Amino acid sequence: MTDLTVPVLIVGGGGSGLAASVFLSDLGVPSLLIERHPSTSPHPKAHILNGRTMEILARHGLADAIYREGSPPENSSAMVWLTSLGGDAPYDRKVLYRTGAYGGHQLAQRYALACGSRHGNLGQRWLEPLLRNQAEERNPGGVLFGHQLDAIGQDADGVDATVTERRTGRTLRIRARYLIGADGGKTVGPLLDVPMLGTPTFLEWINLHVRADFSPFLKHDDAIVNRVCSLSEDGRLQHCGVVPMGPKQWGRHSEEWTLMFARPPGGPSGAELPDAEVVRMVRDTLKLPDGYPMHINSISHWPVEGTVAERFAVGRVFLTGDAAHRHPPSGALGLNTGIQDAHNLTWKLAAVLSGAAGPNLLDGYQRERRPVAERVVERALLSLFNQIAISAGTGVVAGAAPEWNKAQLTALFADTEDGRLRRALLAEYFDTNRITSAHLGLEMGYDYADAGFVLPDGSQPPETDPLGLAYVQTARPGHRMPHAWLYRDGVRVGTHALLVPGAFLLLTSGPADGWVAAAEAAATRYRTRITVAAVGTDLVDRDGTWTELRGHADGGALLVRPDGFVAARTGPTADPPAMLDNGLRAALSVTA
Ligand SMILES: Cc1cc2nc3c(=O)[nH]c(=O)nc-3n(C[C@H](O)[C@H](O)[C@H](O)COP(=O)(O)OP(=O)(O)OC[C@H]3O[C@@H](n4cnc5c(N)ncnc54)[C@H](O)[C@@H]3O)c2cc1C
Repeated sequence: MTDLTVPVLIVGGGGSGLAASVFLSDLGVPSLLIERHPSTSPHPKAHILNGRTMEILARHGLADAIYREGSPPENSSAMVWLTSLGGDAPYDRKVLYRTGAYGGHQLAQRYALACGSRHGNLGQRWLEPLLRNQAEERNPGGVLFGHQLDAIGQDADGVDATVTERRTGRTLRIRARYLIGADGGKTVGPLLDVPMLGTPTFLEWINLHVRADFSPFLKHDDAIVNRVCSLSEDGRLQHCGVVPMGPKQWGRHSEEWTLMFARPPGGPSGAELPDAEVVRMVRDTLKLPDGYPMHINSISHWPVEGTVAERFAVGRVFLTGDAAHRHPPSGALGLNTGIQDAHNLTWKLAAVLSGAAGPNLLDGYQRERRPVAERVVERALLSLFNQIAISAGTGVVAGAAPEWNKAQLTALFADTEDGRLRRALLAEYFDTNRITSAHLGLEMGYDYADAGFVLPDGSQPPETDPLGLAYVQTARPGHRMPHAWLYRDGVRVGTHALLVPGAFLLLTSGPADGWVAAAEAAATRYRTRITVAAVGTDLVDRDGTWTELRGHADGGALLVRPDGFVAARTGPTADPPAMLDNGLRAALSVTA
């Protein structure tokens, strides 16, 4: 008794599920997305979309709208730490530290060299409707909000899902070839008994979405995140993120904000605290003047853990986003990793469903993405705990007498040799925070070389930066294709803009004749699409960057997977068909 049959059922209409829906539509795969809530999330939550995510979204025509709706780069390029917004102690209203973040200021050149897309900054409350509109437009009738997954069964050929339409209570039975669990970990993983490994909930995050004019209290317009570390009357450092959310004006003049703070375990949970008490705690931390207007739109609670699903796939069911990995927001990696999961999985599903790839290709999803998630979770935890270094640098000691701690903070801002020393030292502590907001190597530098779905060429990987800051671009198989600017008819085009959803890219250097014919034959043979781009023929490498990065001599080529990762690389060869054969066999997991 099946009401609906569909190739792919997506459970969850958050960022990762909606992105999967858009990607599948662009790949020509029919899908159905169900989301239990009647609408997208009302909470701002994630807002920073890194260059890798934006480069993916650009390929699906989503980046321009995000840049348009989100903050301009000049309003999202720094992290700023403050002692408070209000207050009149000698140490109040001071800037503790300010530094470029997410590709801003001193980081700009390094980020621009690595990626043709700059980061985006748009709260999930605004991003999700944008993704939902695009998902609905590309898949009319295929996005059902107000529908909840209740049960899953599967056999060798497909998945059976029992779904309830929440408004009417009507039950729908859906049969799908594959299911994507993008449900934040609420249902699919638990139904399949997939354990989450790592650090269980250890903190509670409380987020307030507010409307307020904080411009009188702020000096800088470039903060993507302001962090207040204020000293309470009883001598404790209290922390609160003050994040501009736009939506029309940005920087100091943002109309809406997320105020976020963490509560350690032990005391009453945030949910037990009356809203008025939560608001009082935040106002005290910020030292807002009594009665200063601040309208509360919503208060939400978020249990923070650091976990990775033991398996990312159970039979024909795949977990993406927070269903597969959950961690603190430090480093802004959650939604980014979720969208990148969806990108990695959907081209594989499309290739298997079309018959171009063998079903084993789907094993590659877990093999490629789980190590990435493990690294992200470890780093997000480490970044969070590194905040302790910043507290230590202020000289304030937890548990010390209030007067002693007040004297420490006063001394920090004194115009004396001792004050200058303290501030210089504090800057060193703060500088360690670059592992949180300048981690280009973490964002871009992961690779899939050892997962078994590319053709190794015997080369060694570049050395990785243990701090995750530096990112060395390489065209080695298994790594993200390097970014470089090329020119076609005088118009600048980034290497990643050469990718077409679902198609392999054959990027040749020098004369391309033999390659074009070989690519056409291979595309037919492997029932796939191969776009050929020829540097030196239709594309010009004006500044030689591509020639430096490509890692092969003229006459050679790179075969790049639809997700932008290099499948195979060769120097000049008399046998282009063999290179394509071997590369496609590895990348599609076929034996033909
Ligand atoms: C304060 C805060 C700040 C953050 N900042 C960032 C940031 O700057 N950058 C970043 O990348 N990440 C950030 N994150 C993390 C980010 O919000 C999450 O990683 C992201 O929301 C995960 O997306 P998702 O689609 O995987 O899951 P979710 O957003 O949780 O979406 C899952 C959806 O599935 C639905 N669902 C669940 N069960 C069912 C069911 N049975 N049937 C149907 N639907 C179901 C839910 O209703 C939900 O809508 C932040 C998080 C918080 C709280």
